[in-house]
Order: sequence, then structure tokens, then C-alpha cells
Amino acid sequence: MKVIFFILTVVVVTSCSQRNRTSIHSSIETETAQLYDKLVEVRRDIYTNPELAGNEVRTQRIIKQYLLDLGLEVETGTYGNSVVGILNTGKAGKKIAWRAEMDALPNDFPDSSPFKSVVDGVQHGCGHDVHMAIGLGIAEVLTKHKEYLTGSVYFIFQPEEETFIGAKSMVEAGLFSKIDPEEIYTLHITPLPVGKIMVKPNALYAHQKRVKITLKNNLTEAEATALYDDIRRQVSRFEPESKPWEIQGIVDPEIGLHNPSTIFKDYLFMDENAVIQEDSEGLHIQAYLYETNRANLSTILSKIERIIKKTEHGDKLLALSYSQGNPTIMNDTQLTNKSINTLKEIYGKDLMLPNYGQVPYFNDDFCYFQQNVPGVYFFLGGSNFEKGMIAMNHAPNFRVDEEAIKIGVRSFSSLIVERLKDD
Ligand SMILES: [Zn+2]
Repeated sequence: MKVIFFILTVVVVTSCSQRNRTSIHSSIETETAQLYDKLVEVRRDIYTNPELAGNEVRTQRIIKQYLLDLGLEVETGTYGNSVVGILNTGKAGKKIAWRAEMDALPNDFPDSSPFKSVVDGVQHGCGHDVHMAIGLGIAEVLTKHKEYLTGSVYFIFQPEEETFIGAKSMVEAGLFSKIDPEEIYTLHITPLPVGKIMVKPNALYAHQKRVKITLKNNLTEAEATALYDDIRRQVSRFEPESKPWEIQGIVDPEIGLHNPSTIFKDYLFMDENAVIQEDSEGLHIQAYLYETNRANLSTILSKIERIIKKTEHGDKLLALSYSQGNPTIMNDTQLTNKSINTLKEIYGKDLMLPNYGQVPYFNDDFCYFQQNVPGVYFFLGGSNFEKGMIAMNHAPNFRVDEEAIKIGVRSFSSLIVERLKDD
């Protein structure tokens, strides 16, 4: 009996170690497929009951209950309506965090889906409902594989992303004294095709700054508009004939992000229309600019000053500054490259799209987590062009193919499994 038991033990040990590489990922795929309907239901429930930044009360309750049902330790006291779920394997090892946002948008677009928002003027127009379903799915898949894992995985559900307040507030409230991840990951639904993941080291979005120009009050609004047009034309930099401000181009095979000669690689442009206001201090012209090269940010204002000085209004300039400008996503180079290789090895080269550009207009407060913990932010495809579903975030016709939930859960569950092993 003892010998037979010994042989059986050896067999079990062998199969566990094989499972560590190949079969754990096929088990993750199977588990994800089994969970899919449940996650779609959660996503649709959150989509139907969206909550604005700072008001994610029902959303918090649903997330919290889901994580408690998995048997995770759950913490809701860090900041606002945040939820942090802790999967502790009980074995020493690495600590990794996954983040999902919770808030919806103040939108009121026509929506023909049977599970449309029941809250007037509030919709999940950025895909955070899908992000939450994926985050919960990863938590469930990894919990079910807990016996094969070491270390801890933290699931951060973050409120108030759209207002750029949540991540910074969680950090300032001591998030990283409660949990101490060595790496942090997240994703965002994008208009790329469903079934694709895109990432690159360093910046994914253009650097965004609001410029404020203050002039003496003796300009008419028409003169101020003409002056702004002058500035905008002269300061801009982009490929001839290209229009990087037409954001739908990011998924175009010819000019989009994944083409090495993308028009989104090197540009500077400003908003087409500026906000022009007058008060006792003067006439203020304000507009955003989008610049791919961070090094240029320090010279743009002096360029604008030179442009103004050469016009007939040159002697009216009172002040010129950046009035607003958040940090942006900066992916850790080493972790990004390792993640790309891992995802390709497990799910095939076709899963990953290269990225040669930077997206204008958008940004994400995940950058505040990245300032404390090296991390990677992925773009996840959400469009299904044949079905007419285009996941262009914040657009009136924003729709997500729910297959993206499956791709997200299986890919990033597998990635976390491999990252936990990599020291
Ligand atoms: Zn978003």
C-alpha cells in the first residue's frame, strides 16, 4: 500500500508541475468559458445601473459581494467607493495587483440594447462595466487555481476615474501601505477588433496640456479667434496630409496605431476651437494641446509666445501658461516586453497587435498607481465591425462585443499566473 501511495504521489506531483506551464492555461481557458455567461450577466447588470464618479454605491456593493462569495478578503475603507479584494494563496511569493475602474459617464445617447441604462443621463460609455466584469472574472479564475499559485493577487476596483480623482486619492489615502504589490496591471477597452490586445512600453497616450493665454481686454472676440487660429496653425506638427485629430483613424490598417508608418507616431496639434472668456484680469484664450514627445512640452509655450509677438496683438500679451496637465500612462519597459512575450507564447502571436503610436484626447489616472508601482496598461479590442459594434470610447454609438470579456479574463489570468512565477 505504501509503495502504491508513493507512486501515486509522484504521479500527482508530475502532473502538477506540467500543469504549471501548459495545462494551467488550458484550464484557465476552460474555466473562463464556463464563467462567461455569469460575467456577461454581471456586466449587463452594471451597464443597466450606471453610477457617476463619486456615486458608485450600488456598484461597490455588487463588487464587494462577488469577491466575498469567492472567499477573498475585502477592504472598502481606503477611499470613496473603492473595493480591494485580496487573494492570499497562503504561500510566500510575489504580489501582483490588477485594477478596474467603476464609474460611468454623464451621457444620454440613444441606446437600443435590451439592457440599456435605467438612470436618466448616465451611461457606461467608456467600458468600465466591461472592465469590472473582467476584473471579477480574473479574481474568480485565479481563486479556482489558488492551489497552483504562490504569493498574493490584489484586485483594486477604483472609483472616480473619469474625474481623474480616484487613483490619486486611493494612493494618498495609503493604499500601498495596506497592500504592497510589486507589479500592477490594467486594461482599457478600445475600438480595436475584439480578440486583439495592444501594448507598448512608455506612453500610450499623447501628453495633454491646457494652454491659457491672457491678453489685454482690447481685442474683439473675432480678433481673439483669428489669433488663436494663427497660433494653432503655426505651432502644429504632423505628417503632411495626415489628420491625427480624427481619432477613428487609430484602428485604420493604413494609418492606425499598429502600422509602423502610423500618422499617430509624431504630432502636435491643438483643439480646433478655443474657449474665449473675459474678466477684470483680461481676455483669456484656453485650449488643449496634444503632443507625442514629452521633451517638447518645455518649449511649446515659448514658441506660442514668439507667434503672438509677431502679430499685431504682440504688445497685448499679459500671461501664458499651462493651466492644466495631468501625468500620463507610462508603461514599464521590461514588464511590457515580458508581458508581450508571455501572452504570445500562451495564446499565439495573433493575439497581440504592435503599437507604433500614441492616442490623442484620452488619458487614464492609472498613471498615479504606476508612479508608485511598475505597471502595464493594455488596450483590449472591443469592436466587432461585421456586427456594427464599434467600441469608440465616449462616442454616441459606443458598443462592446462581450467576447472581449472572455479574451480579457483568460489572457490576463494567464499573464498573472506567469508573472507570479517570474522573480
Ligand atoms: Zn475609461
